[in-house]
Amino acid sequence: MLIAKTDLHAALKKYFGFNKFKGLQEGVVESILLGNHTFVIMPTGGGKSLCYQLPALMQEGTAIVVSPLIALMKNQVDAIRGVSKEDGVAHVLNSSLNKTEVKQVKHDIVNGVTKLLYVAPESLTKEENVDFLKSVKISFMAIDEAHCISEWGHDFRPEYRNLRHIIGRIGDNIPIIGLTATATPKVQEDIIKNLGIAGAKTFKASFNRPNLYYEVRPKTKNVDADIIRFVKQNQGKSGIIYCLSRKRVEELAQVLQVNGINAVPYHAGLDAKTRVKHQDMFLMEDCDVVVATIAFGMGIDKPDVRFVIHHDIPKSIESYYQETGRAGRDGGEGHCLAYYSYKDIEKLEKFMSGKPVAEQEIGQALLQEVVAFAETSISRRKFILHYFGEEFDNETGEGGDMDDNIRHPKKKHEAQDDVKL
Ligand code: ADP
Ligand code: MG
Repeated sequence: MLIAKTDLHAALKKYFGFNKFKGLQEGVVESILLGNHTFVIMPTGGGKSLCYQLPALMQEGTAIVVSPLIALMKNQVDAIRGVSKEDGVAHVLNSSLNKTEVKQVKHDIVNGVTKLLYVAPESLTKEENVDFLKSVKISFMAIDEAHCISEWGHDFRPEYRNLRHIIGRIGDNIPIIGLTATATPKVQEDIIKNLGIAGAKTFKASFNRPNLYYEVRPKTKNVDADIIRFVKQNQGKSGIIYCLSRKRVEELAQVLQVNGINAVPYHAGLDAKTRVKHQDMFLMEDCDVVVATIAFGMGIDKPDVRFVIHHDIPKSIESYYQETGRAGRDGGEGHCLAYYSYKDIEKLEKFMSGKPVAEQEIGQALLQEVVAFAETSISRRKFILHYFGEEFDNETGEGGDMDDNIRHPKKKHEAQDDVKL
């Protein structure tokens, strides 16, 4: 099948109202329409959903989309129904549906109305679902958040390991599309191996965020005062401050408030009403700063977050990249400031000590990369991009001078001295 570029653009306009493809989307859509196994690696916000939604809408049959989070699935289904004005075009199949609803979903699939069927991996393992899907026309399988398949990813889900087997049972030649925002070479290898898609056509976007400025400061006992100073220098700007523990979140939020900063806490220990209230306050700019655990941020799409501070260093470079990635979504200024002390690394190690040995080893390896990042005297951007398997040249690359090590180079021994403080 040969697809004219004009047709793709017409379909993009018709279904989504967009005039242009973003980044590598067009090539991905083409690859899927050609029936290739396809592997897509793009940072969060890169526009991965459209890569499978558009070809699904353009093709006969139903595309099965595997996604780990029910809440996210529901959002996506609502969005697709919104663009196509036809409820049956997208469905979720999960255990929360009653019998009548399941009947309706199956009816729409059999009649060729449903182009996208979202399922959680555990629903796919159900015998009755496999039997049903075997009997209908499947256009392709998209595995969103495909890093969940890898123990090296930040969100390993054992159910993902069964997917290859189940896909095999549903049909013989179903094209498989893996999508992820995790770009480490190890995770990529794992995905390709576990999905059985060696030779997949691979599309990898750059992970460079040229407008973000990366800075690491040694963490001393004056860290709170340092943060207060930083926030006051950035008065009126929106920012997120990440802490490791709920307790620290509460304490720091209070210290900021006492110092006249409009800050609210956010962590999973707060009741749902308070969490929603604080999140809304941040989105509506009724407060400037959210002090939060990593519970905050999933799906938060505030474009003008001007700084992300890590009061405690995160447990992996992926986490650091994801969390700092919430700054400067609009392309404007985004200052990423992390405080580092080796004591915090030891704390993270202690957290892991109860876990199975294999998990500890992986955790250790990830943590050592964080140490290397914090202590490095080379460009932070170069370090991060190298970690994601990307070469970066500070002379010619965009944002090449946007980190502390390039702006204020230190000799190596100085950097180490700092850390001992
Ligand atoms: P990802 O899954 O890669 O994190 P999403 O699929 O959620 O990203 O898309 C991020 C945002 O980009 C969404 O708001 C989406 O509507 C928007 N988007 C995607 N493709 C395009 C496009 N071609 N033109 C304009 N906006 C787009
Ligand atoms: Mg996504």
